[in-house]
Amino acid sequence: MTIRDILQGKGSDVYTTTPQTTLEKVVEVMVERNCGSLVVVDRPDSLTLVGIITERDILRNRAARTTALDKVLVGDAMSMAVVTASLGDEVPKLMGLMTKNRFRHMPVVEDGKLVGIISIGDVVKSQHDALTMENHYLKNYIQS
Ligand code: AMP
Repeated sequence: MTIRDILQGKGSDVYTTTPQTTLEKVVEVMVERNCGSLVVVDRPDSLTLVGIITERDILRNRAARTTALDKVLVGDAMSMAVVTASLGDEVPKLMGLMTKNRFRHMPVVEDGKLVGIISIGDVVKSQHDALTMENHYLKNYIQS
């Protein structure tokens, strides 16, 4: 199974933000969209990725207790060295990267443009669906 297969099921919507947005706004959007990360693009409506900001970054910022969330900009709290996936990547490769790097989100990029995002929840669902299907066929095989 590839990233393309997962995106065909869940769609290619990606919630984005920009480096100039405040963390307070990011929290609002994450709660409204029920998601744990926003991909950071260079300007609104752009598909050019410049970073990623997740719940973990906001927690880290809060633990430092320096400035209020409405005074901190995404550009100062995001991760800039983003590890991305391609549509043709196999799911086990993605699982390996997420485990090794200890993150739960991978933007998908093709020809330099953002085309989707995969979370660890999407990976678990894809593995569960594949196992359920395999189980079904094996049971049918044994019973026939
Ligand atoms: P997460 O587990 O996805 O909430 O992310 C944990 C940390 O890794 C945060 O500092 C994120 O900004 C960072 N991070 C998440 N996804 C990626 C990614 N694909 N590439 C680089 N850093 C990431």
